[in-house]
Amino acid sequence: MEPTFDSDDLSVDTSSGSSRKARGDSRRKAARWQNAEVLDIIQEAPDAITLRLRLEESDGFLPGQYYNVRLLVPDRPGPVQRAYSVGSSPLPDSSIIDLGVREVPGGLVSPRLVGDLTAGDRVEVRGPVGRFTWTTDDGGPVLLVGAGSGVVPLMSMIRYAVAANLDIPMRLVCSSSNFDYAFYHRDLAYLAERFSWLNVAHTFTRDPLDQRASHHRRIDQIMIAEAVGGQFPKRTYVCGPPAMVEDVQKWLTELGVDPATVLVEKYD
Ligand SMILES: Cc1cc2nc3c(=O)[nH]c(=O)nc-3n(C[C@H](O)[C@H](O)[C@H](O)COP(=O)(O)OP(=O)(O)OC[C@H]3O[C@@H](n4cnc5c(N)ncnc54)[C@H](O)[C@@H]3O)c2cc1C
Repeated sequence: MEPTFDSDDLSVDTSSGSSRKARGDSRRKAARWQNAEVLDIIQEAPDAITLRLRLEESDGFLPGQYYNVRLLVPDRPGPVQRAYSVGSSPLPDSSIIDLGVREVPGGLVSPRLVGDLTAGDRVEVRGPVGRFTWTTDDGGPVLLVGAGSGVVPLMSMIRYAVAANLDIPMRLVCSSSNFDYAFYHRDLAYLAERFSWLNVAHTFTRDPLDQRASHHRRIDQIMIAEAVGGQFPKRTYVCGPPAMVEDVQKWLTELGVDPATVLVEKYD
């Protein structure tokens, strides 16, 4: 009989050399729900946190994957589940994962993760999940395009490249309302200063004056053409709201980027 998989257990064992290194272990067990301990909560923006968790059991993860989190919510018969990408590197310790969570006003899960947890609490998680992954085997140059919390899995790829001491060109185009609301803005500024292989271009949609951004509008075709221009990407990763992701896919194709080299993750 063919093995069956839970529909959201899409994690795959791509165990070639560097994938194994990224995952931290070549073996792959079926993901199960487990209790993770909240180690720390780091404020990333006024409405966003990093939720640092220690997993009871870890088989490693690949940069770009996500975990499902489930919580009991008042007036709901059972736990409510949502997906959150890992923003940290699997190296050096894949049993500690940083989930990046932005509060969606009126949402069932994100306001609780952002506002109600403290260190020492436990939350139920399952993963890793997803094929939106990058490791050394995929090569470069790499173009990363993210809007809002869509930058979270892209940050995992960047942090993995730093932790693995790689020298593969990476260009990040990230859209936020302004500097303060840009996920990881401090870390990105530090890393871009330190590593010449990393280029970070911010666009701020609600701050027309801040010179830390190279653009002051939503991601558009001109911006993508500029990003593709200098360094034609071998791999492109696009993550964020579905409409933005679909537009960028279309523009990349029009610019001559092979769609087979473009991976997308839609946060719907
Ligand atoms: C693969 C994947 C990875 C993701 N990674 C991340 C990540 O790294 N970080 C991150 O922050 N998010 C991520 N997301 C999004 C995340 O999973 C949640 O969708 C998000 O946090 C909102 O969940 P919520 O329960 O807070 O809101 P929901 O309860 O889903 O509500 C969303 C919105 O709909 C409104 N709404 C709900 N019900 C109704 C109704 N009946 N009538 C009218 N309006 C309603 C709410 O007010 C709210 O504004 C990811 C999504 C996917 C698919």
